Amino acid sequence: MTGKQDRNAIDPNTVDAIKLSLMLTDLRLPTIKEIWQTFARRSDAEGWTAARFLATLVEHELAERDRRRIERHLRDARLLPGKSLDTFDFTVVPMLSKAQVNALAAGDAWLSQGGNCLIFGPPGVGKSHLASSIGLALVENGYRVLFTRTTDLVQRMQVARRELALENFINRLDRYHLVILDDLAYVRKDQAETSVLFELISARYERRSLLITANQPFGEWHKVFPDETTAVAAVDRLVHHAVILELNAESYRRRVALEKSKQSRGRPARVATGKNTKD
Ligand code: ADP
Ligand code: MG
Repeated sequence: MTGKQDRNAIDPNTVDAIKLSLMLTDLRLPTIKEIWQTFARRSDAEGWTAARFLATLVEHELAERDRRRIERHLRDARLLPGKSLDTFDFTVVPMLSKAQVNALAAGDAWLSQGGNCLIFGPPGVGKSHLASSIGLALVENGYRVLFTRTTDLVQRMQVARRELALENFINRLDRYHLVILDDLAYVRKDQAETSVLFELISARYERRSLLITANQPFGEWHKVFPDETTAVAAVDRLVHHAVILELNAESYRRRVALEKSKQSRGRPARVATGKNTKD
């Protein structure tokens, strides 16, 4: 009885491993191809059911696929390196609600409704850091994001328009749930330049989200758009479904620099320099 069972049992060593590998390549299952032999041995040794063995292989393939997809989306997002919500110090911007930032980072409602986020504040206050960190969290949550300096995107859109391909270019940005336009204020006031920006805002309105950082609040936006009417129309669309975060704090860069200089002035020279340890 047991002898007959043994003869009929599938022994992974009797399966043509090379042929199986080729078939797994054909099926585009690289992870299963890599791990099946290890798991087959383990499954035999531990007496797994066939269903458990199969489920384990499939789970590994899917998990690895997810990991690779997020890795690809992260490269594609062009976020600022090293900026995450973990390294963002909320205590220096007490007017900013951490709960609100966490809600933005989770995605869900605002992205599915094509809502926007606007981050205002003077230079150095952490707007780009915050924007990129929200982008990072969203990619990790499975969303697609593009981080770009506003001037760079405006330039690319102008090139597209010259090639009569602006509509196509803007349509292709639809694959991103969120496009982050960093530093709107630095777009030069030029009719040709900023009208492409207006086209982007109109095209994504109520469909796909934008996150914009800017030094100037709306009062100054007529300086960014070609004329008053376009500025009003742009602001109108942007704020219709928007979360607005205002970071009215001191520049983080300046704060860090000041603290460093205070420390070296405030302490005895031997502490500040780390030398002269005699008392
Ligand atoms: P902004 O875009 O508002 O000009 P940045 O985001 O470029 O400012 O911030 C300037 C520098 O200070 C960056 O290196 C950023 O990581 C850092 N920084 C700003 N705010 C914070 C913060 N709250 N916590 C940690 N680092 C911060
Ligand atoms: Mg910035």
